[in-house]
Amino acid sequence: MDILFSHPYLGCIVAALMGLQLGSFLNVVVWRLPLMMQRQWEAECAELHGAISEPAQAFNLSKPRSHCPACKTSLRAADLVPVLSYLWLKGKCAHCGVAVSVRYPLVELAMALLWGFCAWRWGFSVEALAWAGFGSVLVTLALIDADTMLLPDSLTLPLLWTGILCASFGVVQLPLLQSVWGAAAGYGVLWAVQAVFKLITGKQGMGEGDYKLLAALGAWLGWMVLPMVVLIASLLGVVVALGMRWQGSLKAGEPLPFGPSLVVAGLVCAAVDLHSGLYSF
Ligand SMILES: [Zn+2]
Repeated sequence: MDILFSHPYLGCIVAALMGLQLGSFLNVVVWRLPLMMQRQWEAECAELHGAISEPAQAFNLSKPRSHCPACKTSLRAADLVPVLSYLWLKGKCAHCGVAVSVRYPLVELAMALLWGFCAWRWGFSVEALAWAGFGSVLVTLALIDADTMLLPDSLTLPLLWTGILCASFGVVQLPLLQSVWGAAAGYGVLWAVQAVFKLITGKQGMGEGDYKLLAALGAWLGWMVLPMVVLIASLLGVVVALGMRWQGSLKAGEPLPFGPSLVVAGLVCAAVDLHSGLYSF
């Protein structure tokens, strides 16, 4: 084990392999978590209306087993090797030959890069693990928001609390007060912007999930980094919206999720370690 801590490249490679495997699990979470939430809402609605709902088939992160959405064949262990299975099967289901989205191996590769980067930047340490976990949850949130316009509380709120806990135990180099104020300011700023926007236009511009996500970013990066996060995210949001309008994939008045822009801004600020620069003097 000591060799991982003393040998930087070996630590990076082991971390990248861990990220690769986690990326495979993350693809499952991105696909299943919104469906789990939808099923729960439907069950609650049915209960409210007094309907007797039939006991539903178990559906969670582990059940049913991973299967091809087209032919329903359960995937074998050999079909679940991150990236390699995709390349080996040439991006198709081994059973029915239907195309598998290239997003799956790309997410796995991105996670390998993220975990490898954290081990390189912070060494094979608890601090690196904390930042790798932070990045992994953010990537999950960005993908879910892009797909479904949802930012699940079951991810944003634990991210917020772990940020404050990491600061309080000194796992990350961020004074506790900066973290606490970061969480409060992150939520408050977007809430206030939204309140003014609603007063003027009568429309809902952002979801509550966005406030909770920025609160979590504030808890990890501190309140001083928040203006930079909001600036980068807003610029990115405008560029993406203009690009999609130009491409024709976004119609006028159609909402665009803000979560992915916030996530990219948060990852950039964490990667350049903006907070430790700001708080060191
Ligand atoms: Zn199939």
